[in-house]
Amino acid sequence: MWTWKSWVNSANTPETDFPLQNLPCGIFRETDGNPRMGIAIGKFVLDLQRCNHAGLLEGLSENVRAACEQPSLNDLIACSASGWSSLRRRLAELLRTEADPTHRRKTEAALLPIASVALLKPVQIGNYTDFYASIHHATNVGRLFRPDQPLLPNYKFVPIGYHGRTSSLVVSGTDITRPNGQTKASNSDLPRFGPTSALDYELEVGAYIGKGNPLGEQISLEHAEEHLFGISLVNDWSARDIQTWEYQPLGPFLSKSFVTSISPWVVSMDALAPFRVAMPARPVGDPAPLSYLSSVVNQNIGAIDMKLEVLLSSASMRSAGSAPMLLSSGNLRDLYWSFAQLVTHHTSNGCNLLPGDLLASGTVSGAEEGTQGSLLEMTRRGTQPICLPSGELRSFLEDGDEIILRGYCKKEGFPRIGLGECRGRIIPAPFLSS
Ligand code: MN
Repeated sequence: MWTWKSWVNSANTPETDFPLQNLPCGIFRETDGNPRMGIAIGKFVLDLQRCNHAGLLEGLSENVRAACEQPSLNDLIACSASGWSSLRRRLAELLRTEADPTHRRKTEAALLPIASVALLKPVQIGNYTDFYASIHHATNVGRLFRPDQPLLPNYKFVPIGYHGRTSSLVVSGTDITRPNGQTKASNSDLPRFGPTSALDYELEVGAYIGKGNPLGEQISLEHAEEHLFGISLVNDWSARDIQTWEYQPLGPFLSKSFVTSISPWVVSMDALAPFRVAMPARPVGDPAPLSYLSSVVNQNIGAIDMKLEVLLSSASMRSAGSAPMLLSSGNLRDLYWSFAQLVTHHTSNGCNLLPGDLLASGTVSGAEEGTQGSLLEMTRRGTQPICLPSGELRSFLEDGDEIILRGYCKKEGFPRIGLGECRGRIIPAPFLSS
């Protein structure tokens, strides 16, 4: 299947995120239509409801076919991994150059240009957990706040995370309202309430849980990968000044919960298989993970070699017709903890995960300059602003700024597999009456 081409020409170009080998799932709506399930192929979305009605999914299990008629991916996610794989395989057969001509005609009738539809939130997410799995991010941030002890002693033993909020998860393209909140300037005795002046993004990748686990039963590391459905981009928008004032002792709260963006397409773990790589070797002197978080298989293929990029365009850049500026470029393989380890740790106390739960990586940063996944790190907490092509300076985000996240895997001999993009534009804080 890795060498197949599609009769959808835009799926065969080297720069597409959505070749025949990707087939990410999402939910879309035509103007005034109902939400429906689709998969992305080149510049098109294939309407799975229409495919099912045309008899193109015959032979697949009843569960899978019924799930394809739903307005969210939850039922599909709850099917077995072999269920999703069989659907993906069938769709690839329908879309490949060698497809049966009658099938191809019916499939063509179920294609819509992505540009003509609205992409919606793909999953009704029951629970959202945000981790802190990049040791480079943890060290960079720690250095800004605690120069003498950047990394706390628990970091190399415990995957750190916090429970996020699902009601404020929004799909890419949704405007981001600058939040109000309580902040305290270091030279002031009292806090004040008003719009954040330190609005930031966090470049993250989130994994959707497939099969869940019963309450009280842990998912072992050996089986953790079987519980992963797929991944998407996540932007964990953060108000740094609110965060600084509120985060001790229980961690972030309103500085994060105002909104989190997710990309519309969910890329399956099957599609990522060729890009699995070894976890970075732990530096000499680092402790080995405790045994429940340690396995040879996880060490050898627990990571995903995926390039991650952040781009920014300001209002004045857009009106001058300038392209978005590449702010940073990192790699998902740099995480200290794999998604499998995050699943195992999350359930190690018996906590149950549900199909469609979202586990985000935390900000993905590398060790090098130019690989940091947040402005907090890039501008050293705002002290070293970035110069945009328009001549504007940025310590943190201004109203009108748009942040675009991208992620893709590339490897000789394989088509590029991409996550698409996750966008959000900042709009002013609501007016406060005094
Ligand atoms: Mn985060």
